[in-house]
Amino acid sequence: MNPPEPLVLIVSGPSGSGKSTLVQKLIELPTTLLAISCTTRPPRKTENDGKWYNFVTEAEFQEMVARGEFLEYAQVFGKNWYGTPSKWLDQARAQRKDLVLEIDVQGALQVKQKLPGAVAIFVLPPSRAELEHRIRARGQDSEDEIRRRLERARQEMLNYSSYDFAVVNDDLERAGREVQAIALASRCRVARNEEQIRDILKSFGG
Ligand code: ADP
Ligand code: 5GP
Repeated sequence: MNPPEPLVLIVSGPSGSGKSTLVQKLIELPTTLLAISCTTRPPRKTENDGKWYNFVTEAEFQEMVARGEFLEYAQVFGKNWYGTPSKWLDQARAQRKDLVLEIDVQGALQVKQKLPGAVAIFVLPPSRAELEHRIRARGQDSEDEIRRRLERARQEMLNYSSYDFAVVNDDLERAGREVQAIALASRCRVARNEEQIRDILKSFGG
């Protein structure tokens, strides 16, 4: 019998809303696997290749697109390309793990279209002022980049209705518990557990 399709948990939302922080809470759960994206963005000082991203050239990225290697991909902020290689889905299937994707809104919509059972979580900052404060405090982006990210945040949030769940990341402890609860509840969906339910029924004589 083939292993069941992995549960795919998409985490997206505006830059600085707390996606990476909340993804850490998700991967604390046993049986989750975080997909490492490919990007043409240059690495930041704190980023090693292969841990946060696989950093590739634009030519390498386009070759991967041509070979159909991406589950989804998008140009983010009209600038750099980002994509999730489909091999992560194969690895999650082989390891019987849930696959966590931290991707932008365009990518989330593509995954929902390809994999309707995927669960999309939208992370929102409590307010614009707080989002700006967090992006500045993170100290990773130029003034130009901060302006671009704040403008894009508004546009991204207009897509909220395509998501299954919304988590407002004001209090980190609570928001962390919420994303974990969403993952745990999604695993219990009847559609994901029919085989086990049938086995239990069999033990009762069918
Ligand atoms: P994203 O991955 O969405 O760009 P990050 O997870 O990098 O966002 O979070 C942006 C910044 O905000 C980081 O410095 C992070 O430590 C901080 N942060 C995240 N969640 C909270 C929170 N609930 N309260 C205060 N600061 C937070
Ligand atoms: P950053 O440059 O701050 O690491 O990421 C910028 C944006 O790209 C974030 O919104 C992040 O979620 C998104 N992103 C990261 N990886 C992927 C990916 O594989 N696919 C898509 N569509 N977006 C991604």
